[in-house]
Amino acid sequence: MAIPHSKPSIHAADLAAVSAVLKSGHLAQGRKVEAFERELGRYIGVKAGVAVNSGTSALHLSLLALGVGTGDEVIIPSYVCSALLNAVLYTGATPKIADVGLDHFNITMESARRQLTKKTKALIVPHMFGQAADMKALAALDVPVIEDCAQSLGAAYGGRKAGSFGVLSVCSFYATKLLTTGEGGMILSNNTKLLDKVRDLREYDSPVDSKVRYNYKMTDLQAALGSSQLARLPAFIARRKKIAAAYDQAFKGSGVTVPYKAAGQDHIYYRYVVKVSPGQKAFLKKLHNKGVDVSIPVFKPLHHYVKTAECPAADKLMAQAVSIPVYPDLSDAQVQYIIKNAI
Ligand SMILES: *Cc1c(COP(=O)(O)O)cnc(C)c1O
Repeated sequence: MAIPHSKPSIHAADLAAVSAVLKSGHLAQGRKVEAFERELGRYIGVKAGVAVNSGTSALHLSLLALGVGTGDEVIIPSYVCSALLNAVLYTGATPKIADVGLDHFNITMESARRQLTKKTKALIVPHMFGQAADMKALAALDVPVIEDCAQSLGAAYGGRKAGSFGVLSVCSFYATKLLTTGEGGMILSNNTKLLDKVRDLREYDSPVDSKVRYNYKMTDLQAALGSSQLARLPAFIARRKKIAAAYDQAFKGSGVTVPYKAAGQDHIYYRYVVKVSPGQKAFLKKLHNKGVDVSIPVFKPLHHYVKTAECPAADKLMAQAVSIPVYPDLSDAQVQYIIKNAI
């Protein structure tokens, strides 16, 4: 049995939605994009959204909307993909790397505070693997927060959806994310002025001035797929939680540390990340040999790209964490097969 690490869930409704756009003859950014922006804004509980062509573009435009540029500093966590680092570097700003919590994998207030200076212009907070970071603690730093919901679309913190706390929030709809448009992203906010800036920068042509702009637009083809997927997001999340509960139950007492779930938080298991210590490498190999594509969740922590600070927790997680397949189309039989071979 070959089980991939991740797999998009594409149903007949998705095919119908995309082919309707193809038949309409209007493929580029148009009404379908506007509809998807409205729907996701409503779902998260913010005023509006601006769709773009990737999560990385969403991060880049969010930073530009906040006026981030050369001479400014932006705090980001170490234990995350390099999209965050790249977005900061695109603006000319200096990335400052903070460590994460060993149990919850999210950026901690204490380590972020150590990176705080007079030059700090923003803090990017990714909610890792489906569980929100401690937004209340991080708000105490009094720095504009960009929430990165690429891995936590639909997760909640204290009863409110992740993505409704930051001054701006970003999503990614890459093929492996909670819902997909192939590639895609969105910026969400209650601040219409900031969103106007983002909307302005998304297209290169402007009758107003000759400032440098981008081509970061989403297509109607993608947005139609996004809307169709969003309608099933609650069902996707329910299935992810069900699979996670089966793993939690099976791994109890097996030497594999199951994901930590913080009180008052709604973990939606974008990834089911366990800790295997010692024996991470052997565990990966054992499952690979059985056709299960387990993976390390982060390939290179960001403090190894730019050496601004030590991040001992991120280094520890590199040697312990393993991501086990969890996605809506994973069958019960596949879940049982994974469990049987993991313990
Ligand atoms: C995937 C991801 C991104 C990048 O999104 P793309 O759409 O692939 O550009 C950014 N941040 C986090 C936390 C992600 O998981």
